[in-house]
Amino acid sequence: MNILECMKRSPSDFKVAVIGAGIAGASCARALTAAGVSVHVVDKARGAGGRLATRRLEWLDAQGQRRVAKVDHGAPAFAASDPAFRQYLADALPSGSLTAWRPRLAPGSRPLDDAGRLILPTPGMPSLCRGLLRDIPASWSSTVDRLRQGPLGWRIEAAGSTLPGHFDAVVLALPPAQAAPLLAPLRRDWAQRASLALMQPCWTLMGVSRRTVPDLRWDLALPDQGLLAWVMRNDARPGRGSSSDETHWVAHARAGWSRQHLEHPADWVQRQMQAALQEVLGEPIEWQHAVVHRWRYAMPLPSGALPTPRCWWDGARGLGVCGDFFGSTGVEGAWQSAQALRNAMRPDLARATTPAESPFADLPLPRAA
Ligand SMILES: Cc1cc2nc3c(=O)[nH]c(=O)nc-3n(C[C@H](O)[C@H](O)[C@H](O)COP(=O)(O)OP(=O)(O)OC[C@H]3O[C@@H](n4cnc5c(N)ncnc54)[C@H](O)[C@@H]3O)c2cc1C
Repeated sequence: MNILECMKRSPSDFKVAVIGAGIAGASCARALTAAGVSVHVVDKARGAGGRLATRRLEWLDAQGQRRVAKVDHGAPAFAASDPAFRQYLADALPSGSLTAWRPRLAPGSRPLDDAGRLILPTPGMPSLCRGLLRDIPASWSSTVDRLRQGPLGWRIEAAGSTLPGHFDAVVLALPPAQAAPLLAPLRRDWAQRASLALMQPCWTLMGVSRRTVPDLRWDLALPDQGLLAWVMRNDARPGRGSSSDETHWVAHARAGWSRQHLEHPADWVQRQMQAALQEVLGEPIEWQHAVVHRWRYAMPLPSGALPTPRCWWDGARGLGVCGDFFGSTGVEGAWQSAQALRNAMRPDLARATTPAESPFADLPLPRAA
């Protein structure tokens, strides 16, 4: 089916499946919904957020009591240097759902990029994507393994079954390694380029310790040597918090170390990272609970092999791709990619829907990608 040959219909009869509910997928879904299109989001996780992630830790303390803590184990915060992104965040989300974080750096830290002004969604990192996806229908715990295009539109196969209905267009908002196999039977050229986009891995340590050092005056340490690149006292950040006798730690290993030890057993990695954190602090840590998480695709690596446009859109097929790998700036880059895709789709969506009813006709022209 060629999207340009669609029978004219109202925008709400035009159905788009957005695969991936991270910031790229959620902001693309929100933009399409605002334009009147029917959107259905599909994600393999149990909820929205992707790498904007907060983990609930649960353990039994020495008295056998169940204890719970929440830590931000994906992107710890993000910068918004593009004024359009700042304006978007102000308009798209209810007030109070974002807070500014100016990290208080530990002595001896590397200087922080982005002039130290970072944005922190509250109460947890996924609330940004949850806010954008409010009232948009979604299928969770659904790993998409195949996309099929037939005369009536796209069918989505996820975890061995086919999602109900046909879609006029499909948007993939996934890390490149996860987009590539879905694209291979459809757009081999895109699949090849996606597989060339390099992503940095990150082993992440999360844990809770007894608050042995009550007078620490920092919430972020950026050691300039050793295996840890980033050590955060999560509970000391705005909008987080913990009981007065606990400290909540999140530490990121350097990309090179993470790559070198990517396939090592988690318990070995955890021991190395706990020892490295103790070295950073210069004193013993009394752990109550700790666990590690392996991010295979944490951040895009700036590279000459990166795709040059901000997104891909094939109007003849009704197939689009966006995500952070089209830029090199994490959350902001993922958002910019989603906006670029929504702009690229605009002429085709306007053609496919009735001019009288089309909300696309009055939209401003796309910004240059
Ligand atoms: C440890 C860490 C530190 C970071 N630090 C920063 C930072 O300081 N600043 C910054 O700006 N960015 C940072 N980032 C990067 C930032 O989180 C990402 O750039 C951004 O969140 C990517 O958004 P996205 O929507 O492109 O992808 P994602 O958030 O990865 O979303 C993709 C979604 O697709 C889903 N999915 C994948 N495959 C399938 C499938 N087959 N079927 C269905 N669903 C699927 C996933 O479950 C996920 O929800 C960090 C990331 C990590 C992990």
